Amino acid sequence: MVCLAIKAGGRAVFPEWKALFAEFMPQLDVRDWYDPHLDLAAVQYALVWEPDPGRLAQMPNLKAVLSVAVGVDHITADPAWPRHVPIIRMGGEETATQMADYVQWAVFSLLREAPRWHVAQQERKWARRGTPPTRLSTQTCVGVMGLGSLGAHVAQRLVQAGFQVSGWARHEKRIDGVTCHAGQEGLPAFLRACDILVCLLPETAETRGIITYDVLAQLKKPSGFINVGRGALMVEADLLRALQDNTLHGAVLDVFPTEPLPETSPLWQQPGVLITPHVASEASRAARARYSVSIIQALEQGQDVPLLYDPDRGY
Ligand code: NDP
Repeated sequence: MVCLAIKAGGRAVFPEWKALFAEFMPQLDVRDWYDPHLDLAAVQYALVWEPDPGRLAQMPNLKAVLSVAVGVDHITADPAWPRHVPIIRMGGEETATQMADYVQWAVFSLLREAPRWHVAQQERKWARRGTPPTRLSTQTCVGVMGLGSLGAHVAQRLVQAGFQVSGWARHEKRIDGVTCHAGQEGLPAFLRACDILVCLLPETAETRGIITYDVLAQLKKPSGFINVGRGALMVEADLLRALQDNTLHGAVLDVFPTEPLPETSPLWQQPGVLITPHVASEASRAARARYSVSIIQALEQGQDVPLLYDPDRGY
C-alpha cells in the first residue's frame, strides 16, 4: 500500500485531509505527520506546508515531496531537505482560476480607480471626478512578468477580458494573443509598453529585488502595479517612492517582504494602494487533494509529472 504523510494546516484539519484522500484514492494509506507512531521508513510521499526541519531527511523511502502551495520556499528553507527527492509544486485548475480571478479584479480596480473610491467611501464622500474615465480596457496594455503555470493562464484570461496583453519570461514563449518578450534584453521593450504591470515571478536569486524604482519608472503613465508573486521581488522603499512622487499611480499588493504586513508599514495608508493578505490563490483542500492524487498516481505509474521544482533554476 502506498503511504502518504500529511502536514498541512495543523493537526485539527488532518481528519478532513484523510476523508478527502479516502474519496479520491481509497487504497492510499494516509498518515498524520504528527502521529507519534508514524513509521518514517514507510512514508513514500509527503504533502507538506513548512515541514519540521530535518524530518523529511529522516524518511529513507520518500519518493516525492508534494508542496501544498505553489511556492516551495517553505520546504527549501529546511537546510536538510533531501535534495535527491523531487519536490512537486501545487497546481491544477482551481489554483490557476483563482489567480486569474484575483488578477482580473486587481487590473479592473486600477483601471477604474477603486483605491480612491474605497477611501472616499470610508470618509462618506461622493467622489465623482466630473470627467468620465479616460482609459478603456481595450486601450490598456497589461504586462505579465512570469509566464509559468499561473502567469500564462492569467495572460490568457486578460486577453479574453479585452486587454492588450504582453508577457515576459526567461525563455521565448508563444501564447495566443499575447506579445511575448524574453530575458534581460527583452525587458525594456516589455516595460515601456505596459500601462499595468503584474508580477507573477517566483522568488529566486535572480528575481529578488527585481521591482525597483527604475523598473516602475519605465511603465506608461498613468501606471499601475500588481504584485502576486512574492514580497521579496519588490524593493519596498522604491515602491513607496514611486507611489509618493506619482511615478506609479496605483498598486494592488497581495504579498510583502514581511508577512503579515507590519502595522507600522506606511503602505497601509498610502493613497492609491489596495492591500490583500496573501490570498490571491488559495485552492480548496478538495482541489489540492485531488491534484495530489493525480501526481501520486502518475508517479506510481512511472509517468512524468508537471510542476517539478528545479533546485538549480530555483523555481
Ligand atoms: P512557474 O515556475 O510555473 O513559472 C515561473 C515563470 O517565471 C516562468 O515563466 C519563468 O520563465 C519566469 N521566470 C523565472 N525566473 C525568471 C527570470 N529571472 N527572468 C524572467 N522570467 C523568469 O511559477 P507559477 O506560475 O506556478 O507561480 C509563480 C509564483 O506565483 C510562485 O512562485 C509563487 O511565488 C506565486 N504565487 C502566489 C500566490 C498568492 O496567493 N499570492 C499563490 C500561488 C503562487 P520560463 O518560463 O522562461 O522558465
